[in-house]
Amino acid sequence: MSDETSSRWRSWLVRRNSWRWLLPVILVLFVLAIVIWLPWQLRQLETNERQDQLIADTLWVEQALQFQLLRNEGSMRLVGADIANGQLQQKDVQARLRELLNKIYEFESLEWRDANGKLISTDEMANSAAANRNSGNSASRDPNTESRPPAVAERARRTGIAQFAPPRAALGPNEHMLMDFYLPLFDGSNWLGTLRASYDLNKLLEGSTPWWFAQEHQISLLDTDERTLAQRTALGPGRGIYTHNRTVELPGQTLILRTNSMKGAPSLVPKILVGSVIALALGLIWSLWTLWRHVARRLAAESALRQQMSFRTAMENSLVTGMRARDLAGRVTYVNPAFCHIVGYEEQELLGKLPPMPYWAPEAMIDYQERFAQVLAGTITPQGFETIFQRADGARIPVLIFESPLLDESGQQTGWMGSILDISDRKRVEELNRQQQEKLQTSARLATMGEISSMLAHELNQPLAAISSYTTGALNLLKQEQAPNPALLQSALEKASAQAQRAGQIIRSVHEFVKKREPTRTPTSVASIIETILPLVELQAQRYFVKVETDIAENLPQMLADKTMLEQVLLNLTRNAIEAMRDVQPKRRVLRLCATLDEQPTQGAPSLTIAVIDQGHGIAPDVAARLFSPFFSTKAEGMGMGLNICRTAIEFHGGVLQHNDAPTGGTIFKFSLPVIQQNS
Ligand code: ADP
Repeated sequence: MSDETSSRWRSWLVRRNSWRWLLPVILVLFVLAIVIWLPWQLRQLETNERQDQLIADTLWVEQALQFQLLRNEGSMRLVGADIANGQLQQKDVQARLRELLNKIYEFESLEWRDANGKLISTDEMANSAAANRNSGNSASRDPNTESRPPAVAERARRTGIAQFAPPRAALGPNEHMLMDFYLPLFDGSNWLGTLRASYDLNKLLEGSTPWWFAQEHQISLLDTDERTLAQRTALGPGRGIYTHNRTVELPGQTLILRTNSMKGAPSLVPKILVGSVIALALGLIWSLWTLWRHVARRLAAESALRQQMSFRTAMENSLVTGMRARDLAGRVTYVNPAFCHIVGYEEQELLGKLPPMPYWAPEAMIDYQERFAQVLAGTITPQGFETIFQRADGARIPVLIFESPLLDESGQQTGWMGSILDISDRKRVEELNRQQQEKLQTSARLATMGEISSMLAHELNQPLAAISSYTTGALNLLKQEQAPNPALLQSALEKASAQAQRAGQIIRSVHEFVKKREPTRTPTSVASIIETILPLVELQAQRYFVKVETDIAENLPQMLADKTMLEQVLLNLTRNAIEAMRDVQPKRRVLRLCATLDEQPTQGAPSLTIAVIDQGHGIAPDVAARLFSPFFSTKAEGMGMGLNICRTAIEFHGGVLQHNDAPTGGTIFKFSLPVIQQNS
């Protein structure tokens, strides 16, 4: 992925992520807003509820007050009616007033004045009477001196409706407010006077509000100027948070009933709610933050994983080695593109397949089956296995297969993993090499042959010249006039024949040597090989005055070998040995050919060791390092192929060509070949 593409991809991800976060953030803010609004609303509701409750309670108290006043008025009217009937004596009136005063708790005093304003009868609570007396200020209210009825009484008389007078302070040490109630009495239309009751406003309030109400509220009676007339409270003053004023309309007077609740503003529930809102909000923010962090980490991990995956996929796709996974039942579970390319099938055509596979060549089916059984049994070796696959188009491809167990994270084997190498190129190169080698061998043989031919020409001269002279001698004997000596004649012809045979043997050997043949291994004895090459070796040796010695152990077992190849090897080694001794003292020029049986080999079957030993100039370390390289030669006319060919030939026979310095000076070239074991 290019830098530009990856940065665009990243910014797209960032944009997408920020959008993804917008909705939850908005939702959280919305929830927070609701959660903050709810307690506020609840508080409002509670406040309203309390206020409503207070209003209802105040109304109730007002009604109780009105009811009480009406009932009291009723009681007063009963007494008034009896007075109007004239059925009561003054002392009876007094008794009735006393009785009423005792019955009605909130009455402070009661009095009855006739139409002339004369006090007929009066009664008052003991303590207030004492207070009035002690104060000495009873002039304004002294019933006997009152000549003119107060304006309120007058108004009551005029309207015929009982009237309340403005509240006044009571005399005496107990400061409290009183409110007079004037009830006009008529006998028909004849005004008889006025019945007056003084209400102790505190008691009135006390009598008309139930105790439980006083526990929760401070109740006050006020005049229209907001002056407190009476007050009732059980547990101290009200808090001033929930208050309600109720106008109490009385005949002749207007009072205000004020209730002031003891209750404070709702605090605990809102506090708990606000606390929980804050905790909830913090919790939400924290969990959002951790969630965000978690998601960020996850995204980072995902992107790392994606990168790794794409890297792995790219790696798998660019592999030239075919990869194939199989489960324990042998079903194909994975193939990489290289494998598909090698066998020429699509991935879908291979996945899930069980043997026989579509790429198995019919001619190698047995091989595959055996190998597959080995794989399933877990007995395969880690070394590769060479076989042929048949491509979808029918072409055969040589492949090298490596199988190994497929393990999961817990180390449990889940199947088999195979790496498949297409070795067509290697095979082609090998084939080319082989052909090249063959050509080189042929050229080398021909080169050697050329050399040998020139030697042959020189060497054959001798036997041919000898034959020629023997036959000429024989002819001369026959041409003589006297009869030829038969013994002489026979001897000359025998010698000529022997020379001819020798020449023939040399020529046959060379012919055999140059004849190109595929390597065929047959049981061969070392002695026969050495015997074959010996005439040629001696030919070369004579040229440089080298003495040839052979040391072949008796009764050596045969070996399986290509005779001509081994002859070629020995010819090359002996030629090199002879040439190495060209410049040494003539007495050191000894070439030895040895063959011994290695009875106790370190490994494998017994083998024969054949050594070519010279006493030449030896091999310098720098020469030794490149000895077997093709075309390496220290000789002006050398081709540098001899040792290379020798090594190939020996390795073909399963042996190794080695060289050491000889203890007597010079070099030992030797190789070992396994012998044919005789079953006794
Ligand atoms: P060539 O004989 O054509 O040079 P070879 O491959 O047979 O090619 O030999 C390579 C080289 O190894 C020779 O040129 C020579 O220097 C060295 N060599 C081979 N055999 C011997 C030996 N017996 N003693 C010393 N040197 C040797």
